[in-house]
Amino acid sequence: MRIKFWGTRGSIPTPEPTAMRYGGDTSCVEVRSGDTLIILDAGTGIRKLGHSLMTDPFFRGKGAIFLSHFHWDHIQGIPFFQPAFVPGNEFHIHGCFKVDSRLEDAMRGQMGSLYFPVKMDDMASCFQFIELLEETVQVGDCSVTSRYLNHPQGCFGYRIDNGKSTIAYATDCEPWPDRRRDDKLFELASGADLLIMDSQFTPEDYDTHVGWGHSTWLDCVEIAKEAGVKQLCLFHHDPYRDDESIDAYLAKARERFPNTIAASRELSLDLLVKETEAEDLADGTEHESAASTPAASTPAITRKSNAPESWEIASREEGAVLFVSSPPNLSLMNSRKFHESVMDLLSEELHRVVLDLTNLEYIDSAGIGSLALLFDALKKRGLELALCNVSSSIMSVLDITRFTTIIKVYPDPAAAAQA
Ligand SMILES: [Zn+2]
Ligand SMILES: [Zn+2]
Repeated sequence: MRIKFWGTRGSIPTPEPTAMRYGGDTSCVEVRSGDTLIILDAGTGIRKLGHSLMTDPFFRGKGAIFLSHFHWDHIQGIPFFQPAFVPGNEFHIHGCFKVDSRLEDAMRGQMGSLYFPVKMDDMASCFQFIELLEETVQVGDCSVTSRYLNHPQGCFGYRIDNGKSTIAYATDCEPWPDRRRDDKLFELASGADLLIMDSQFTPEDYDTHVGWGHSTWLDCVEIAKEAGVKQLCLFHHDPYRDDESIDAYLAKARERFPNTIAASRELSLDLLVKETEAEDLADGTEHESAASTPAASTPAITRKSNAPESWEIASREEGAVLFVSSPPNLSLMNSRKFHESVMDLLSEELHRVVLDLTNLEYIDSAGIGSLALLFDALKKRGLELALCNVSSSIMSVLDITRFTTIIKVYPDPAAAAQA
């Protein structure tokens, strides 16, 4: 795997000469594995990556962009990404699903006429928008695992594994105060060849920036040690740090974890193949293809089955409340049927639809999307959507996708009926 840093800075570009060595462009990291191109974040650094791709004979016109989140310093370079203006090129933009800020809206919104003269539709390449939950997706020979990190409005960390080497990308994350919930960060970083992590603050700065959603270089060192990573890369440098001050905290970090580097302008890294792979190659043993390598970590939601099922909607009316039982799965296979079935049940007298999730064991991005569609469709008809009997695992998905900010959740149907 080959990695190149095109944007290393956090929050806002810093084009001043005293910050040029570590770089002034905001987050963008190019990851290459064979023909596979993965771009981590689309801060202003993606502009120069675009220039590089335009003259790269090995670039096949396709790339997968994984956004950590939608803060400016992670999306602002998209309108200046030259390959996206070339007809025939294709970019799959991945980001976390949020019911109140959809990925495609966020991308198109920053190019709204109030902010920018060029519309996203004027970019001639083909875009696909892929909203992720915590899951593992395959991109070429790489598996990419997403996990939520602690950051205002949420942020995804990613783990990329091509079967030979593994990188973890954890920008914009603040360790939880009690450290108990950092298991997702450890899961991403565990045994990685390279951990690229947010080191925006010094431990001294942090005291006045609690809750801003960023780590210190000391947090990075501690997590790298505990997670057993081979190399640590300090990333997302604070805009108020010049090159000399980054040199200073890099030296301190190296005292505690010698294999530490700091991301710098156009730094390239080649990750070596894993020892076992190297041995296999040396003795001529055929090694497993990445596609057959098990996912790096198990998804947070129980994945029972994606198969179509013979499910019929169950419902009852109590006064002005319609109770609907959810199917065991809510996924791409049945989300349209689910939506249509609920809409068919609506009558003039209703005030509220309560979705009873007792049976729901599995939900994917399409299922989450169908809940959002249902919420909108009911709202247009003046009806409220509420939920009851929500398991803790499904509740965590609803929390993180911000459903709980717009949909009421009751412990049971009786509470939902009385409200
Ligand atoms: Zn940021
Ligand atoms: Zn952020």
